[in-house]
Amino acid sequence: MTQLIDGGIVIIGGGQAGGWAAKTLRDEGYQGILSVISDEPHDFYERPPLSKAALKQEGTPLSRLFSEDETDSLNLTWYRPVRATHIDSNKKQVQLSDGRHLAFDKLLIATGGRPRFLSSAWQSHPRVFALRTWDDGQRLREALLSAKKMAIIGGGWIGLEVAASARQMGIDVTVFERQERLCQRSVPASVSNALAQRPPASGSRNHNRLWRNFAR
Ligand SMILES: Cc1cc2nc3c(=O)[nH]c(=O)nc-3n(C[C@H](O)[C@H](O)[C@H](O)COP(=O)(O)OP(=O)(O)OC[C@H]3O[C@@H](n4cnc5c(N)ncnc54)[C@H](O)[C@@H]3O)c2cc1C
Repeated sequence: MTQLIDGGIVIIGGGQAGGWAAKTLRDEGYQGILSVISDEPHDFYERPPLSKAALKQEGTPLSRLFSEDETDSLNLTWYRPVRATHIDSNKKQVQLSDGRHLAFDKLLIATGGRPRFLSSAWQSHPRVFALRTWDDGQRLREALLSAKKMAIIGGGWIGLEVAASARQMGIDVTVFERQERLCQRSVPASVSNALAQRPPASGSRNHNRLWRNFAR
């Protein structure tokens, strides 16, 4: 018979939302069991540096959401690195990828988003990268150290930040964006146009225009 573990309040996802939810619960006085299921091995951390300093500068440390002491004081029960694979809302149970089952009083799903690969072949291609996690960032940085050219699919903020970081590392970058303009979903045309007109990042060797539009 499968052992059922009492998870108390269970949070799926060890990202920023999961981290702040855990901290807020403790700050507000919740003293019961607080479980976090995370498919990453790290404590809560911030992702914004992944496309900036952590990509460009060697030895950039993981940008922790809370210090080690603060994290310890939250008294969390971590389940990591494992995935939540099934939720039974009637039984109030979560199944983990390692076969364990957690019973929950309350459940928070804080699983964030993930990059879409254009095909499964791309997902397993050794020279195609996605950037979501700290480990993704470390792999990408390693590859960029010896790269001369880079194609970026997606002219949104993360794509453009990676482009700027890569240009500063002396890499020739082309950005492919299927919308008519950069960051179309988040800014007006005047800002997109200003982004497209921006001069190449300082320190880059190549001064080619970095944005190309491609048809759907
Ligand atoms: C490279 C990069 C740069 C960014 N820069 C900025 C910026 O400059 N400014 C800004 O405002 N925002 C930025 N963002 C966006 C910001 O980081 C996100 O909005 C934020 O991380 C969302 O937090 P979250 O907790 O909702 O999700 P996430 O941070 O995605 O955390 C979700 C976690 O849940 C885990 N998970 C998912 N499914 C399961 C499962 N079934 N079982 C267990 N674990 C699971 C995921 O692996 C992840 O660890 C950036 C993001 C990236 C990737």
